[in-house]
Amino acid sequence: MGNFIFLGPPGAGKGTMAAILTQECGYAHISTGDILRAEIKQGTELGRQVKQCIEGGHLVPDELVAEIVADRLAEPELAGKGLVLDGYPRTVPQAQLLEATLAKIGLELSAVVLFEVGQDLLLKRLTSRRVCSACRAVYNLVYGPPRQEGVCDACGGEVIQRADDSLETARERLEVYEEQTKPLIRYYQGKGLLVRVLANQDKDMNFLALREALKAKL
Ligand code: ADP
Repeated sequence: MGNFIFLGPPGAGKGTMAAILTQECGYAHISTGDILRAEIKQGTELGRQVKQCIEGGHLVPDELVAEIVADRLAEPELAGKGLVLDGYPRTVPQAQLLEATLAKIGLELSAVVLFEVGQDLLLKRLTSRRVCSACRAVYNLVYGPPRQEGVCDACGGEVIQRADDSLETARERLEVYEEQTKPLIRYYQGKGLLVRVLANQDKDMNFLALREALKAKL
């Protein structure tokens, strides 16, 4: 099955593609954003520590996310499954910490998929994105709204806008991506792991492009 990192700016569709891959092919989807938001929602100590960073569009400290991911990777239900790491690593130090963690548990990366989308489209997607506050299903007011406004098709939960999807914070996140995450493109290119997927179409077409790219790596 393989182990993949999904890399790309916020709004590139990494989470959406990871969710389809999980449903159709049984991959385990590890989204650091989802894990951190769940901690905030549950009001844990960790959640309290990261709330401000996340809502301001900044990254949370490297060691902290590295630990969360290492814990998640150690879960027995993941054994034997292909992995999709979505939103992690986001900095070069995180990539180095991940390498150490993977080496410890005897896993190897198959490829790092870079989702490429133009800046204007990213902002449009981010500010029109909505999520279910209960089951985390993702909607988009422009490209795929829920059947009933404000209500999740899947579970009936309340559909809301993420605090960090406001125009101002979305812009900040795109800047953070440019400065802190983009260096990973070179980093993984240097390791011969980078695969580019043009992700500026609708989600079905993007998934086809992703499948083609992954086929070549499996
Ligand atoms: P998106 O990909 O749309 O930006 P995510 O849900 O992946 O959103 O992440 C939301 C926020 O969670 C980030 O802006 C950041 O504050 C925090 N976060 C998620 N993953 C990481 C990470 N690997 N390192 C640091 N912060 C992270």
